[in-house]
Amino acid sequence: MNRDIENTLQLQRIDMQRSDLEKELAALPKHIATIERQLEAGFRKLESDRALLAANQKDRRSQDSDIQTHQQKISKLRDQMMSAKTNEQYRAFQHEIAFCEQSITKCEDRILVLMEQTEALEANVKTAEAELARQKTAVEAEKAGARKRAAADMAKLKELAAQRAEVQKEVPAAIYSAYERIRKRTAIAVAEAAAGRCSACQLELRPQLMQDVRRGDSITYCENCRRILYYNPSIAFDPATGPGHAAPSGAGKRVDMT
Ligand SMILES: [Zn+2]
Repeated sequence: MNRDIENTLQLQRIDMQRSDLEKELAALPKHIATIERQLEAGFRKLESDRALLAANQKDRRSQDSDIQTHQQKISKLRDQMMSAKTNEQYRAFQHEIAFCEQSITKCEDRILVLMEQTEALEANVKTAEAELARQKTAVEAEKAGARKRAAADMAKLKELAAQRAEVQKEVPAAIYSAYERIRKRTAIAVAEAAAGRCSACQLELRPQLMQDVRRGDSITYCENCRRILYYNPSIAFDPATGPGHAAPSGAGKRVDMT
């Protein structure tokens, strides 16, 4: 294969790797944001469970305080009852005391219900706390993994940039600028000419053009998509002539694999 084409292909391989790494790097912050949102959901669940438990306990305290108030009232009424002048007054006090006692019973019933709920609510809080702790650990591990991946990607990108600079030196300026111009338009700037077609745009190549690509004396461009064409004899298969003028090892390998 023409050395210029080989180098340009090498540039393309490097650029594709760079593009994959850049995509991965760009996706990492989004990935972290997603898992952090899951953490927020876990935190909100815990907050709401805690709020329910707090409301339960507040209600319980309020029932306790109501009972106290009723009890104080009853003892006050009992004192007053001692000095009742008439049976009617006495009965009125009795009636009022009975009403307070009924209220106490109602509070006690409510407390029993609340106590039953407390247990379940406390269990919910404990579960949510454990779940949040588990999520936090998982998120931290994911973040550490993402940071590690990002660092590795950056190191690889640096390495590729150095490699690319070396390869670029070998590519004539005119070919390089053509390569860059096509690459900006479409990710693949160098396309294989296989089975008489441009593998990128599928245009059937003129026999003369196909011959030029095969010979590889100069750079050949697809007449339709303007991509740089290359011919890989070790893998190309022309239905008219069979496998290309491959190095025997390459062609043999190909046959063995199929
Ligand atoms: Zn084409």
